[in-house]
Amino acid sequence: MSLSGTYDDQNIFAKIIAGDAPAIKIFEDDVAVAFMDIFPQSPGHCLVVPKEPARNLLDLSEDMAAKAIQRVQKLARAVEAALQPDGIVVTQFNGAPAGQTVFHIHFHIIPRWEDVPLGRHGGKQADMDELAAQARKIASFLD
Ligand code: 5GP
Repeated sequence: MSLSGTYDDQNIFAKIIAGDAPAIKIFEDDVAVAFMDIFPQSPGHCLVVPKEPARNLLDLSEDMAAKAIQRVQKLARAVEAALQPDGIVVTQFNGAPAGQTVFHIHFHIIPRWEDVPLGRHGGKQADMDELAAQARKIASFLD
């Protein structure tokens, strides 16, 4: 799939936003929804998904880009407080060659610990109870 293209409103994140597919949510407002990544690269790996139907950062409106990064910062702060990682990676992929697999704009928040290698992107599916416990803990640290 190319970098520019038509937005497919049947993608999995559009379905989660619409409430037509399940997700272990951490927070939601009029701008974005945040939920646990079900194939985490690290414990606590979560996603901020702006609600605007845009394929990637290049398609997203400037207003939503500004509002989305505020949600990313808010969630990263809660992840830091909840899980006390040694570092946090924030990533965002545009186009399949860049690593994008779901073609609805989203930001990854990936906690990192010293000497713990990063898991494979889209690797092993997590235990849903563990994800739910992480989501509850992170949510309890949102301001
Ligand atoms: P991308 O490669 O597009 O930046 O990342 C897509 C991310 O979405 C991957 O990290 C993948 O694990 C995650 N993902 C794919 N399908 C689902 C799903 O159905 N639910 C959730 N919560 N995450 C998903």
